[in-house]
Amino acid sequence: MTDLIITNARIVNADGVTTGHIVVDRGRVQAILDPASAVPAADRVVDAAGRAVIPGGVDGHCHVAQITGPHRTLDDYAQTSIAALWGGTTTIMDFGIPRDGSETPLEAARNKRELARDARCSVALHGSVIAWDETVPAQLDALAEMGIRSVKMYMTNRGSTMSDDDTVLRVLKEMKRLDGLTYIHAEHDAIIVDCTQDHADAGRIGIEHLHRTRPELAEEISVTEVLAMAEYAGTPVYFVHQSTPGAVDLVAEARERGVEAYSETCPHYLLLDDEVYASRMPEWFACCPPMRSAETVAALRQRFADGSIHTVASDHSCYDLTQKREHMDDIREMPHGLPGVETRMPAAFTALADTAGAVDDALLQRFVELFSAAPARVNALPGKGAIAVGFDADLVIFDPAEERSVDGRRLHMGTDFSPFDGFALRGWPQVVVSAGRVVLDADGFHDPGAVDAFVECAGHSAFTGLSARPEPALARTGA
Ligand SMILES: [Zn+2]
Repeated sequence: MTDLIITNARIVNADGVTTGHIVVDRGRVQAILDPASAVPAADRVVDAAGRAVIPGGVDGHCHVAQITGPHRTLDDYAQTSIAALWGGTTTIMDFGIPRDGSETPLEAARNKRELARDARCSVALHGSVIAWDETVPAQLDALAEMGIRSVKMYMTNRGSTMSDDDTVLRVLKEMKRLDGLTYIHAEHDAIIVDCTQDHADAGRIGIEHLHRTRPELAEEISVTEVLAMAEYAGTPVYFVHQSTPGAVDLVAEARERGVEAYSETCPHYLLLDDEVYASRMPEWFACCPPMRSAETVAALRQRFADGSIHTVASDHSCYDLTQKREHMDDIREMPHGLPGVETRMPAAFTALADTAGAVDDALLQRFVELFSAAPARVNALPGKGAIAVGFDADLVIFDPAEERSVDGRRLHMGTDFSPFDGFALRGWPQVVVSAGRVVLDADGFHDPGAVDAFVECAGHSAFTGLSARPEPALARTGA
């Protein structure tokens, strides 16, 4: 007898739509049966009744229990992963970022690897390098042996997480050697420091001025510089949270001349504009990059719908309003970052559906690509991002028409607000299956307890290509 069968599913993958019964056993998809065939015996049968079933979400950019200077995000792996599952995300990727000079990249990653044992869903990790020294190559070797094959670097945050250009270039070359991927937070530090100081000198340093201190050109010039380094090093590069159409276009142009570059955006850059800083509660929207003009948001959404942007991630950073309000008169002292792992599905889907118009199969496939398939492939996560025989049974019955009004206090993240509070968002998960376990259904959430499901990333080149689904055999090589 098999563990679970989802019957009468409209199976939506990024590369096609089929119908069938999905047979799940020992955490994986064992078979997909013709819808006309008899349903075999199973411990549990869930009737999808013709509804869309999509692969569980892969959120490539989450910060869990993150310590940045004096600030610490409020949720741990148990809470973040439970919130992720409530939101249809079955794999989260966090970062091992050295908290200061006393922690090495390897120690930071090992620390996160231990904490991740409490997670209720699959977890993969990125490493992070701040400053180069002669031990870094061996540390990156050790990370790769742990299944951590991507490294995040910051072009800004001087004195904290910022790396200098020499370090960035050396790490790009190391990641080429290790068949890995470099993640980049691109904002030009000198421009931001100068612009912030000018605003401070003029007494305009409160949160209501955040968007003026970090101009769009600071993001775009940094993308240009990093693309040049990646092109010179001949190595892939991934830009987190792109917030301007110009930044996305720079990635597209680089791809045309053969640079393997990727563009990620986040739901808040698609649904919110800089009017939020003139609202009654501007502190709710403290993040970097900041929200952009309405014109920029509209152009970014076009690129989200037309395929220029490759992935949507939450950049989940869970601070509460008490933390946000403590220093809202000085953006240099505030914790920046927004809670979002739970709302990524409906926020991204609403932005996509509103921009594209009709909700048809092509739109659902595009959504699956952004939400699950592309993050799984780009990060080389075996067994993730598709509903296919041999892949992990991470499955979501998804209702593109269901609309709910967001109330951050009723969500499951470790905070008391959502940047989308009061928004009517469409496209919520109805049933969530994580590694073959039904964790969310009409009866509510069923906590599987700590699952310690760490996903080791494969070599980046094995998964290269934005359209091809990895073969099932390749999909399992890292397991
Ligand atoms: Zn981030």
